[in-house]
Amino acid sequence: AGAVSADSVDSLADGFPLCMQHLHAQLAADRHLRHGGRMQLGLFLKGLGLDMQEALAYWRRAFGAMTDDQFAKGYAYNIRHNYGAEGRRADYAPYSCHRIITTNPPGPGDHHGCPFRHFAPERLRAALHRDRLPDADVREIAALAAAGHYQVACTRHLEARLLRRPGDAQPAAVTSPNQFFDLCSGAAP
Ligand code: SF4
Repeated sequence: AGAVSADSVDSLADGFPLCMQHLHAQLAADRHLRHGGRMQLGLFLKGLGLDMQEALAYWRRAFGAMTDDQFAKGYAYNIRHNYGAEGRRADYAPYSCHRIITTNPPGPGDHHGCPFRHFAPERLRAALHRDRLPDADVREIAALAAAGHYQVACTRHLEARLLRRPGDAQPAAVTSPNQFFDLCSGAAP
């Protein structure tokens, strides 16, 4: 994790896995995310190297419309908490895919979760198309997700992103959003 700032997060979004692309885009569209989404995206960004002060600046700006007082009362505590600066001062780690896929499923209005697990097939295909994947890749990845192979589907998405064809050297199986980002941006072997 390098020096990621509130200003540089948006420029990194191209390397995000589908779950984090979705949260990042919804945050931009709604100027808000509910708790599960703030936790999943917030800890991911922490894992990228966004420090606490930069995280406070990032979320304050992302939540455009609210007052500083509303932000301080409703949200700043949770952000500091994620960094171990409040409460029992645990230093929380980014979520793994396993955790995202198997716990706390999203309800109406929530945007956290794993798109390969939690999106309806049509919505998943649309998200993959938005990520500029060719039709054949979209079909293959959607079929893997429909068969319950969520992390395999995500690994295939990573391969498609890296423009590797089947038979080329395979990237490691995706086990966390942060690992996806590292593999996608060439920061990990
Ligand atoms: Fe995110 Fe993991 Fe799902 Fe990929 S498999 S979209 S990294 S939760």
